[in-house]
Amino acid sequence: MSSNPSSHKISLRAVEKSFGDTAVLRGIDLDVTDGEVITLIGASGSGKSTLLRCMNLLEPIDDGVIMFDGVDIAEPGLDADPIRRRIGMIFQSFNLFPHMSVVDNVALGPRKVLKTPKAEARSLARDLLVRLGLEARIDAYPDQLSGGQQQRVAIARSLAMEPEVMLLDEITSALDPELVGEVLDVVRDLKSRGMTMLFATHEMAFAREISDRVCFLHHGRILEQGTPTDIFGAPTEQRTQEFLQRVI
Ligand code: ADP
Ligand code: MG
Repeated sequence: MSSNPSSHKISLRAVEKSFGDTAVLRGIDLDVTDGEVITLIGASGSGKSTLLRCMNLLEPIDDGVIMFDGVDIAEPGLDADPIRRRIGMIFQSFNLFPHMSVVDNVALGPRKVLKTPKAEARSLARDLLVRLGLEARIDAYPDQLSGGQQQRVAIARSLAMEPEVMLLDEITSALDPELVGEVLDVVRDLKSRGMTMLFATHEMAFAREISDRVCFLHHGRILEQGTPTDIFGAPTEQRTQEFLQRVI
C-alpha cells in the first residue's frame, strides 16, 4: 500500500464505525486509484453497505480519515452535498420518483442541484437514456418499467450529475435473474469509459470479470485483497476460502 494517500482518488485510513455496541467497520484502509474498479465481497453483515454509505457521507464515521481528491471528507461540519454530487451511489432498490416520467427523473438532479435549464437538462437526460438502451421508455413512468429498466434509469439519474466515482451496492440483488445481465452491461460500459467504481456484489462471476481488485470483507475488516485471479484463484486466508466455497 502507498504511504502517500494523496496520490489516490480516494483513500481510507483506519475507518471505524459502530452502531451502538456493534462495531461494523473495524479499521478499514483502502486506496482507490482513478479509473479503478474495486469489488467488495463478503458475507451478509460483513460491512460492505456500511462502508459504501460512509464513503457517500450517508453515515458519519466514528474514527479515521476518508480522503477524496486530497480533502478529508469525513471532517465533521463539512458540507456533504457537493461531495455526494461527485460520488454517485446506486442501491438495490431503485427509488425513482413514481409521479415523474423517466426523462424527468433523470433531469431532476441537474435542474434542481446544478441549475441546468430545463430543456438542456432534458436533452442531457435523453442522451443518457439512449446510451443506456432506454430510448423507447423515455416518457414512461417507473411503474411501467421492468426492474432492470428501473435500475438503468436509476443509474442514468446518477450519471446525470456527472459523478467522478460511482458506489454500487448490490444493484442487481432485487432483480429477476433474467434482468441482471442488462444492468451488468451498463456497469461494463461504465468501466470501458474509465469510471472509478466500488461495487458490492454477490455476482462472483461478474466480480471476477470486471474487477481490477477484489476486497474480501470479514467482520468489518478487509481481510484480503488482490486481483480477481489472486482472490478467486488462490485466496490465502482461510476465511476467504470458506466464503468462496459457500458462494461459488
Ligand atoms: P453487508 O452490506 O456486508 O451485508 P452491512 O454494512 O449492511 O453489511 O451491515 C453490517 C452490520 O451493521 C450488520 O450487523 C448490520 O446489522 C449492522 N447495521 C447496518 N446498518 C445499521 C443501522 N443503521 N443500525 C444498526 N445496525 C446496522
Ligand atoms: Mg449490504
